[in-house]
Amino acid sequence: MLLSGASFFAAAQETSLLVVGIMQDGGRPQLGCLKSCCKDTRQREFVSSIALIDSANQVYHLLDATPDIASQFQLINQSLSATYKFGSIFLTHAHVGHYTGLQFLGRESMNASNVPVYAMPRMGRFLTDNGPWSQLVRLNNIQLKALHTDQPIQLGNFQITPVLVPHRDEFSETVGFKVKGPRKSFLFIPDIDKWEKWDRLLANEIEKVDYAFIDGTFFADGEVNRPMREIPHPFISETITLLSSLPRSIRERVYFTHFNHTNPLLNSNHPDRIMLEKAGYHFATTGTRLLL
Ligand SMILES: [Zn+2]
Ligand SMILES: [Zn+2]
Repeated sequence: MLLSGASFFAAAQETSLLVVGIMQDGGRPQLGCLKSCCKDTRQREFVSSIALIDSANQVYHLLDATPDIASQFQLINQSLSATYKFGSIFLTHAHVGHYTGLQFLGRESMNASNVPVYAMPRMGRFLTDNGPWSQLVRLNNIQLKALHTDQPIQLGNFQITPVLVPHRDEFSETVGFKVKGPRKSFLFIPDIDKWEKWDRLLANEIEKVDYAFIDGTFFADGEVNRPMREIPHPFISETITLLSSLPRSIRERVYFTHFNHTNPLLNSNHPDRIMLEKAGYHFATTGTRLLL
């Protein structure tokens, strides 16, 4: 198909990222929680994921396959002006919020055919060697593709690069992704233990991109009723201290995501959230679309 100058421009204009979920692996409502955060099922939020919308090629890709993938599929299609092809999936790691959506590509559900699933070596072996994931590989519902840290994959309008991060790696490595579009780029790191354990400086990495979707699981210590060192994440309170000396124009690139149901800042009227937003920080919201 040959596009005229104007329509080509319009199509390219739409190449973007779409936020399709913002929660930590357990989602909202979270099983077992009877508190106000989870009581009202109308306040349901999907597990963190980002769709990459390639308008020139009419295809979209997913960063992570969450347990909410079926609803996210609807959300993506409702936000597009035409029918796009379901493209590839890029996995960060083998914790339940990030890959178990793959189950719906199998026989019991979509019965997909050869959906490319990009995974790091250990993650790929985990899927190949363990049921029920091994069946997706055997029946060619998915086609595993190898990722290597810092090696970019070119996919239509996007260049996608996995970046290794320290995390509780029980079953796989953990990566974040750096994604470059025709105009803009972003970083996606939903899970990391602590920024100090990373071999890179968060501030430097934020300076290199236009948007940074980063781990905002917990606001502060003491938020959940178990030892928080067993589930390490950078508290938002620590991250903002780390970034406090950055100019506002750089801080504005930050979008916190992957919120635990207990995170008080999920409430958009919380005074601390309002204060942080005034300081330039963003809180990822499902449905937000940013040009790439
Ligand atoms: Zn997670
Ligand atoms: Zn809850």
